[in-house]
Amino acid sequence: MAVSTPLLRSLYHLPLSIEAYEKFQEHISIIQGLQLQPSHAKWTYIWGFSSFSSRNTYKRLIGHQHVPRAFKWLCKSACQNKRKFFFWLILKDCLSTRPLLKRRNMHLPNYNCVLCSLNVEEDIFHLVFDGPFASSCWFSLNLMVSNNSDPLDIMESFKDQLRLPFLWRLSSQCVT
Ligand SMILES: [Zn+2]
Repeated sequence: MAVSTPLLRSLYHLPLSIEAYEKFQEHISIIQGLQLQPSHAKWTYIWGFSSFSSRNTYKRLIGHQHVPRAFKWLCKSACQNKRKFFFWLILKDCLSTRPLLKRRNMHLPNYNCVLCSLNVEEDIFHLVFDGPFASSCWFSLNLMVSNNSDPLDIMESFKDQLRLPFLWRLSSQCVT
C-alpha cells in the first residue's frame, strides 16, 4: 500500500517556492517508494507503553534539565515557604535589590547599600554574602564565604562546610 499523493499535497501550503516544490517532489518520490507491510507491530508511545500518561508526556516535552543541587536542597528543605521563596529569589538573582530596580528604570536617589558605609552598590552578593552584616551572620555560623560571586557556588561551599542536611534552615535563620 503506497501513501496517497493528495494526502501529501494537503500537508503543503500553496503556492510553493521553487525550493519547496523541489523538496515536495523529493518527498513524493521517497514516500511513494515506501511499501507498508501488514505486520503484527505494536504501536506504543515514545516512552515504550501503549497507555497514555500525562506524566510521561510532560517529561518528554520538558526534556532533561540540569538543575543545580542548591535548588534541590531548597525544595526538600523543611523551612517556611516564605524563606524558600526568599532564597529562590537569591539563587535566581531576582531579589529586588537597588541595582535590579535601576535596571528596571526605577529612579532612586541612591543605589548604594544602606546597611553599611562602604558606598558600594547593593547587589545580591554584597547584601547576602559579602557585606559587613551578612559576613557577621555567616561568621556566627562558622561559615566562610568564598570569593566566588555565584550564589549557587557559595551554597555548595556552605553545604560542604556544614556537612548537614538542613542547610536552608540554618541559613534562613541567619538572615531573618
Ligand atoms: Zn553594605
